[in-house]
Amino acid sequence: MRRPFIGGNWKMYLDRESGIELARALVTGAAGVRDRDILICPAFPLLSDIGRELAGSSIRLGAQNVYFEKEGAFTGEVSTEMIKSCGCTHVIIGHSERRHIFGESNDLLQKKLIAALEAEVAPVFCVGELLEQREEGKTERVVEEQITTGLAGIGQEDLEKIVVAYEPVWAIGTGKTATPEDANSVHSLIRSMISAQYSSRVAENLRIIYGGSVKPDNIDGLMAMAHIDGALVGGASLKADSFLRIVKYI
Ligand code: PEP
Repeated sequence: MRRPFIGGNWKMYLDRESGIELARALVTGAAGVRDRDILICPAFPLLSDIGRELAGSSIRLGAQNVYFEKEGAFTGEVSTEMIKSCGCTHVIIGHSERRHIFGESNDLLQKKLIAALEAEVAPVFCVGELLEQREEGKTERVVEEQITTGLAGIGQEDLEKIVVAYEPVWAIGTGKTATPEDANSVHSLIRSMISAQYSSRVAENLRIIYGGSVKPDNIDGLMAMAHIDGALVGGASLKADSFLRIVKYI
């Protein structure tokens, strides 16, 4: 049985004050929830403050990105040790906004995954196809390339620390959600890819979460699917009531 995982990606939203307010409401609202992992990923400047708010709670802190070098003249970048020192246990790697707005390649993301694992920060590794790729029937090929290249050189033991997020790009921030069945079938494909690349045991244990316009009114249907182990939530994670409703899916 895979432990459910619900993550909130705050993207470039919320200032310090509103971030702290939201974190406090989540800590209170999720106090009794023990049977699933909850993660929030604020913007870099908020990490330390939010980390302090989460201390002693079951909500984990994640960064939205990280660079693979340990330190150096890389203006504007942050290292795994830096995010760790703010309290991060997780980091999102390969979010579609990083891939498509900032041009991050599968090769770069592989380096980031290795760096995060070496620093013992658990990656939430995002994959997913563009609308035109889906329409051209290329979903499987695109996701397979992202998985194969991204995970190159990562051993079985490290893979167990990774959560894979399937986020079809056309569903992110658009209000269009993949149907639970469509999402489930890509999750099942990803599981078979992992089974072929690693082993059926590793594939069975891997958590594959769905992202793309997850809301209080569609989370229950998504979580009812056999291969959907949780959600990565953007817009709906910015308000305590909607994120808590998603966290407390039925
Ligand atoms: C995301 O940021 O990963 C995401 C899925 O966003 P949204 O829920 O707003 O579509």
